[in-house]
Amino acid sequence: MAVKVAQEWLNSCSGCEISIVDMGERLLEVLSLVEFVHSPVLMDHKYFGQLGGGNHLEIPEAKVGLVSGGVRNEEHLEVLAEMRKKCEVIIALGTCATHGGIPALCNSYRNEEILGRCFGTETTDATDALPSEGVPPLTERCQALDEKIKVDVYLPGCPPNPDHIFAALVALLEGKPVELPGKSVCDTCPTIREGKGQLKKLRRFLQAPQYGAPGEPLDKMHCLLEQGILCMGAVTRAGCGGEAVTPRCIAARVPCRGCYGPVRQNGNQRFDMLNALASNGIDISSLPESVSLLRFSGAHNLLRPSRKSKEA
Ligand code: SF4
Ligand code: SF4
Ligand code: SF4
Repeated sequence: MAVKVAQEWLNSCSGCEISIVDMGERLLEVLSLVEFVHSPVLMDHKYFGQLGGGNHLEIPEAKVGLVSGGVRNEEHLEVLAEMRKKCEVIIALGTCATHGGIPALCNSYRNEEILGRCFGTETTDATDALPSEGVPPLTERCQALDEKIKVDVYLPGCPPNPDHIFAALVALLEGKPVELPGKSVCDTCPTIREGKGQLKKLRRFLQAPQYGAPGEPLDKMHCLLEQGILCMGAVTRAGCGGEAVTPRCIAARVPCRGCYGPVRQNGNQRFDMLNALASNGIDISSLPESVSLLRFSGAHNLLRPSRKSKEA
């Protein structure tokens, strides 16, 4: 009998769902083994009955629940609680679900500041009234799923590599544990490194690194961080390259921005990166800011409104 799967998206951009579809032909294999009983983005299945006659939000029971996006409003909380109630195993799909993702950058500001900026400035539609009718109230901050419910499996990535989604579903169907790479992006990077002490000074953002001659393989390119480009491979979980292994951004010759989140689930990419820079002799007070080191992992209370923001 096919295993029932429910899928939900909360504070999500749908990139994680595109990654499910990006399994390509393997999706046919998955679909021969599972039955999607609920997935607002992929199928027509409604919360309050197909004809809208229900009086409470209901999601069908399923063995596996895939949830993308973090929690940002009261509706997300309600949907997430229902998913937890109805699904035996909850998979946090994507870095928004595992660590807050890009939307958790909002945690640097109070809700009033964000709403004021969106709806009360001359550059947008300045209005005296904020939208309220039919709009779920915002939660105080953007949170990862495990700040609200028990999560059984973490699949980080913005978006997660389809190879990981496929491997996780197959493992669950076979009753095996889902393993995540325990290494960092640097551990899977083929560039040339000369070792500690090579990093003297960070370049300005627009100063390009040496990429090597056109068509030259990556193992002829020098490590971007050692060239002074702020590459976050050392503090980011490996895996974005999937079966190809080579990290996706490095393959495109751009620095890692940290989208797979910290190497350990409860790590702190800002703290770890500043530590790595300082231990290489970089004066970290020369960095213009360090909030962006948490651009993918600002949930779990790691990003909070600054004193200045609170006083504003
Ligand atoms: S993890 Fe990335 S792709 Fe997935 S919902 Fe968040 S922003 Fe979109
Ligand atoms: S810092 Fe960046 S370029 Fe250097 S080894 Fe790590 S991932 Fe590769
Ligand atoms: S190299 Fe870094 S930012 Fe790029 S896809 Fe991989 S983990 Fe994400």
